[in-house]
Order: sequence, then structure tokens, then C-alpha cells
Amino acid sequence: MDDIYCSKCGEKNSISEDYCIECGSILRKLDKYESGDRITSFEDMFTQKHKEQLNETPLTNEIYELILNNIYETGRKSLKKQGTTALEKVEDVVEAYAKWSYKSKGGELGFYTANTIKLDDRLNDSVQIATLIHELAHHLLAEIHEQILMYFWEVEKTYELEVFVQYILSSGTVHLMNEYCAHTVEGRFIPHGYQNYGSFNSILEDLKDELDKETAFISLVLGNTLAEDIIHLLEHFIDDDLRGEIKQQYNSDRLPPSYSQIGMETTDIMDENSRNELIMGPIVGSFDAAMKNPDFKNVLDNFLETFKSYNQ
Ligand SMILES: [Zn+2]
Ligand SMILES: [Zn+2]
Repeated sequence: MDDIYCSKCGEKNSISEDYCIECGSILRKLDKYESGDRITSFEDMFTQKHKEQLNETPLTNEIYELILNNIYETGRKSLKKQGTTALEKVEDVVEAYAKWSYKSKGGELGFYTANTIKLDDRLNDSVQIATLIHELAHHLLAEIHEQILMYFWEVEKTYELEVFVQYILSSGTVHLMNEYCAHTVEGRFIPHGYQNYGSFNSILEDLKDELDKETAFISLVLGNTLAEDIIHLLEHFIDDDLRGEIKQQYNSDRLPPSYSQIGMETTDIMDENSRNELIMGPIVGSFDAAMKNPDFKNVLDNFLETFKSYNQ
């Protein structure tokens, strides 16, 4: 039983590997790796030991930087440059990190769930590019959260851990932050005038009765701060040349720009300590809620079923 399965491609790896031998995905945190515990049930997750590990040390800038660097290295190692068109080159970047495939039903342009990006193939190339970058941003934000938990708990990545992160990122103000972050990352790599905050606005609408202005604004600034980090990471892969090609693609697709949404952008960035505290808040909050409420496990078990069905 000294094998570890890659959560991206399912490949069986030897316990001595840090990266998947097939796709290059990270299998565990790289720093001071101790014995690789695995959380394979929610009973194993919500323990007193894990509670203490989350609370005894803060998320420091060093840990955060280490995690971002791990994520960058994962992409760098598994990037295969095969594409010739702008869309194909963006697909290469997405493939370095996540599984994606086409969908041909449903009204949304694309979506991200259970480690998988779905994209509507009836869209023209420029809209596919924007959608892929948007969904990739969701994936990378999840990856940051997963690695934080892997770091604090000294565990490998398992579906249970990924499911817990998906739960956190789709709840309340964190959902709002997550969506704002993805819109902002997308907006940075496409030409001025095509920015779209549609799903952010609809979440805001859903939450409007329970949300005060101040809280919404903090979520937005945190989303923008994390977007900056993800943009910085992606600029290694989507460089000036590729951004030029994306611009040309927009020109040849002749979509009319709409400047109405650009007012949603904020330039406010928070300092690193506030960022770290605001990342940890919902993680610890959701963890405590799960410890107190036995029904929570059932909610996560349902998520887990969906997750497994997507990753078969
Ligand atoms: Zn793999
Ligand atoms: Zn989104």
C-alpha cells in the first residue's frame, strides 16, 4: 500500500515521488515532508489534532510564497507546448493544471467543478479563451487552499481534502470572493472592454439580504488581492506574445466590446497579513462548524459522490 494516486490523472505513483510521473501534478507539499498521512474519510478529517494544527500556527508569508511556488513549478513541469492558435496555447496552460473537456448542453459558457473544467464548444475562440482562463483561476484558487491544508495537516492530497475546499469556496462571502477573483484574472488577459462580472453580480444579488456593504467590499478586495497572485503566476505562461495573439483573436472574432462592466474593477489590494488571516478565517470557521454539526458530514459526503463521478 505504498502507492499514491494522482488526483489529476489517476496515475499510480510510488510513495517516493513528489510529482506525478505521468502529468507532473504535485502529490504532496515539498517542504519538510514527513510521513504521508492520507485523509480518506471525513471522520479522519474533523479531529482534535487537525483542529489544533489549524490553530497553533498562523499562515505566514513564507508558507504562502512556498505554496505559490509549488503551484508554479507544477505547471512549469507539466506544460506541453503543442498549440499553434491562441486558443490552443491557452488550452496547453489549462492542461498543465487541470482536466478539461467540452460540453454541448446548458446555458453557461463553462464551469469548474470537482477538478474538471467544462467548456462550451459552440463559442468562438475568443470567448473560449476568456472562459478557460476564468475556470483555471477557480482551479488555482482551490489549489492554493488545498495546499494550505496539506501543509498544516502534513497530509497528501485526497478527494476528501479537495471536497472540503470546494465546500469552503462555494459558501457565502467566500463564494463571492472566489467569483470576483476569477473574473479579475480573466479580465487581465483579455482586451479592454470585454470584461464581464456576470456571475459575480448574480451571487451578489443572491446574497444581498444577508450581506452588508462593508463585508461585500472586503470580499471584493480579497478576491482582487488573490487575483493579483494568480495573474502573476499565469504571466509566466501567458506572456506578452500570447496576450498579443489573444488580442488578435478578439479582433478577428469581431465581438462588440461592452464597457458597462469595467466599473466593477477595483485596484485595492490588502496587505499580506490581512490576506493570510482572511484566507484562514473561513477554513477554520468551516472546520469548527463541521466539528460541531454531525449533519455537515452528510453534506460533504454528497459532494464527495459528485466529485468521484466526475473523476472516473
Ligand atoms: Zn497525474
Ligand atoms: Zn466563475
